[in-house]
Amino acid sequence: MVQTALLFLGLFLQSFFFAHGVHGHRIHRRYFQEWSQPQGHSVNRLFKRGTDGVQYPAVGSSDWSSKYPRDGQTPKRNTIPKEWLDALNDAVASGKVPNTPIPTMGSNGSPVYPNNQDPGSPNICSSTYQCRSKDDIYDGPDGTFGVGFDDGPLPPTSTLVDFLKKNNETATHFMIGYNVLSNPQQFLEIFQYGGDCAVHTWSHPYMTTLSNEDILAELGWTMQIIHDSTGGKVPKIWRPPYGDSDVRVRAIAKVVFGMDTVIWNQDSADWTMNNGKSTLDSVMNSLDGFVKGPKSPGLIILEHESSDNTVKAFMDTYPKIKSNGWQTKSLVALLENGEAYQNVKGDTVNPAEIYVNPDGGNSTSSSTTSGSSTSQPTNSKSTVTSASGSPSSTAVSSNTSNSALALDSCSAFRQWLVLAIAISAVFVVIL
Ligand SMILES: [Zn+2]
Repeated sequence: MVQTALLFLGLFLQSFFFAHGVHGHRIHRRYFQEWSQPQGHSVNRLFKRGTDGVQYPAVGSSDWSSKYPRDGQTPKRNTIPKEWLDALNDAVASGKVPNTPIPTMGSNGSPVYPNNQDPGSPNICSSTYQCRSKDDIYDGPDGTFGVGFDDGPLPPTSTLVDFLKKNNETATHFMIGYNVLSNPQQFLEIFQYGGDCAVHTWSHPYMTTLSNEDILAELGWTMQIIHDSTGGKVPKIWRPPYGDSDVRVRAIAKVVFGMDTVIWNQDSADWTMNNGKSTLDSVMNSLDGFVKGPKSPGLIILEHESSDNTVKAFMDTYPKIKSNGWQTKSLVALLENGEAYQNVKGDTVNPAEIYVNPDGGNSTSSSTTSGSSTSQPTNSKSTVTSASGSPSSTAVSSNTSNSALALDSCSAFRQWLVLAIAISAVFVVIL
């Protein structure tokens, strides 16, 4: 009788191995289609350091702040993770990042390209010199007013967020990475009301004047602090400080990090109030002119959350935006199908690691995921907490209900084994 039961057990085990091969412990995973970039895009593997199930350090805590560059300068070369540099080098070697000359700051306060090269030519296409790349976003859809602010988070952010909440508005916030590090409370206020977190570099330089590696560090570290502070969301858009970009800069943003460049079509010049070169009245007059102007194209106005006055200029203009018939939405809602992040769809944050197709043979990615073979994303949660330890009201949940994970062959084996033992046990009882 026992022999019969063992025979059945053996037959089950044999049929399992016949069906699955003898590679029993090979992990099968599939690529998450919800990433907005194609499977081979480097951004999909650059932000894997926080994976599902990881408790991210509380925003504002010492564990959190110790992970980032310490000051508001361009982060040093030795801070750049090797994976970012590898992705940059691959992009350069494949010709996707043009080898254009790097300008220096001229006495007029604008970048000057060497040998009097024309910054408006297609092979440089500097936005500082009004060359509009077809890949950059300047205009909104007709009749729309894109709500967005640069340079936060800063103390005036709190007033702005209160106002937006009262008016049921959402804005896109182009954040300076170092300001996130310095103002975690205001960062959380933005994230928790549902504002879009977008990138405005780590230290606010003229990006065209930087080396490829410095551009990498400015963008990468800002993406990293946003990623780590939002439960793993990877920003989708960035805005160059001073609107200063060219073919080389925008290629690094897109090819290495998957981000679109968003500029503006009107400048409120609100920032000139901060150095006394304009007044609230003069800025309000400019804004009045824009909102009373033509509805085509839609307005994308450069505005800031950098002082009480810049915030007041927007708040005092807001009733006129509405009375002039503009449809107000966050910039992201107008331009990016409402999604501010590359790895988010609806309420789902996809794991910030790459998953490989079983037949894809992506050995690099396989090695990066091998350490997490037991951390199935299903039912895991990553929670954003403040430094005080209280969970945020908009804790980010991750689930993969639709997806994407192939059955781990180990768990399949366990299921077969349990079934075989159970049936064998039944035979033992019967016989
Ligand atoms: Zn700025």
